[in-house]
Order: sequence, then C-alpha cells, then structure tokens
Amino acid sequence: VARLGSKFAKNMARKEVLVPHLNNWFGRGIFPDAIGFKVHPNKEKDNAFHPSGALKCARVLYAERDGHVDGQKHSADTQKIFMIGHMYHGLIQNIMVEGLGFCTWDEVEKEYDFGWDKETSDFDGSLLTEKGNPYRIRGFADFSRVVIPGKGEYLVDVKTMMSRIYAQEFTGSFNQDKYEAQVKLYMDMEDIDQAIILCVEKDGPHRFKEHLVMADSDLVESIYDKWEYVVDCEAEGEVPDCTCDHSVECPARSLYLGVG
Ligand SMILES: [Zn+2]
Repeated sequence: VARLGSKFAKNMARKEVLVPHLNNWFGRGIFPDAIGFKVHPNKEKDNAFHPSGALKCARVLYAERDGHVDGQKHSADTQKIFMIGHMYHGLIQNIMVEGLGFCTWDEVEKEYDFGWDKETSDFDGSLLTEKGNPYRIRGFADFSRVVIPGKGEYLVDVKTMMSRIYAQEFTGSFNQDKYEAQVKLYMDMEDIDQAIILCVEKDGPHRFKEHLVMADSDLVESIYDKWEYVVDCEAEGEVPDCTCDHSVECPARSLYLGVG
C-alpha cells in the first residue's frame, strides 16, 4: 500500500488530475467479479457537421456532404484498430462510472444534436446561417462532465493510440490541433470551460497520460463560420474555396478542376 501511495503522489506531482485516479483503481486491485461493457462499432450516418471534422477544409466538407467522394471503405486492419479503440472506451467508461464514481451513465457518450428535430426528421430552424439556410451540428462526447475530487469538473475525451504515437509528446503532435478543436467544440456545446484529452496507450505497457484543454470561443466561432459558409455554398450551388493551410495538399484539390 505504501508503494502504491507513493506512486499516486508521484503522479499527482506531475499535475495530472485524472490519470492518478485511473492508475490507482488498477493498483488497488479491488475489482467487481465481472465488468460488462458494450462496444458500439457502427457510426450512424447523418447530414450534420461533426466536431471530429472541425478542421476539415470547407471544400472537403462540401465534397463529402454532397457525395462527391466515395464513403471510405476501411481495410480489416483499420477496422481492428477502430474496434480495439471502442473496447478501451467501454472499459474506461465502466471504470469512470462504476469504479470511480466520477460521473453517471448519463454523462457517457452524451449526444449533442443542434438544429435538428428528430421527430419530424427535419431542420428545426434553431441553427441558421446569416442568409437563412438551416444546418445541423451533431456529436458525442465520451464524457460530457466528470467531477474529479478536489479538482473540479472536466469534459473528458479518450484517444487510444499505439505506443509509437503515445511515446511522442502530445503537444506539437500530428493530431494535437484536430483533437483539441474537436474537444473545444464539445466544450462549447456542454458549456464547460476545461477538458482533458486522455491518451491511452493501446499496446503494452498500457500507459495513460492526459492533456488539458481550455475553452476557446474564438476557435469555435471560426469553425461555425466555416460550416455556415459550406451551408450557404450548398444552397447556392457554389463550390466553396479551399480553406486548407496549404491548398496544394488539399484532399479535394482534384475534385473540382476548373473551379477557382
Ligand atoms: Zn482544402
């Protein structure tokens, strides 16, 4: 117990707020006789903008939404990667709710769906561009709100990664901007001002680390603006301008040849 205690203290000293609790849960070794969790492998198709695509180019979004690019067909290898990621999510959800009691199941995979009426399957008009065109934003936060003792409330998003990626500093990493933008959108929808990206190392030794993200209304507004621009272009039958940092690398660059 003393050894675990000192490890806990060491983790706390690294200023992590959630990871020490998760590791301590494993370290205590006091488990229920069975841990049940469900894996939800199927992504529902919809007509919404999604936080996971926050940084996608306006032209790419336009192409995807209008069916100008084929739906991605994933290889068996890629499907395995997704499936294992879902498994980790299920386990961590169970630990967070049943093991640690940091939230209830209501905060797990909380759905946000703005601008849409599920009953009539139509826009509800609550999201309109300045030109009056309706649109929809939808997403699911892994944990919309968890209460960490003595630390406060956080939105938590779990990202599973292979060791090679996990070993890199999250700050400055390939996915940092994308993941942060996604979480900042969830935070805006949840109206919460801090979040944790929990990085989970899929292969051994299965380390956890966390990355703090603060609310960022400027970034969020710029993403909503971009989405509204796509919506207006769709309504007007115009192909949006590429909004990539480097348009030569735009994934949609060869789709609309001859368009400005
Ligand atoms: Zn582009």
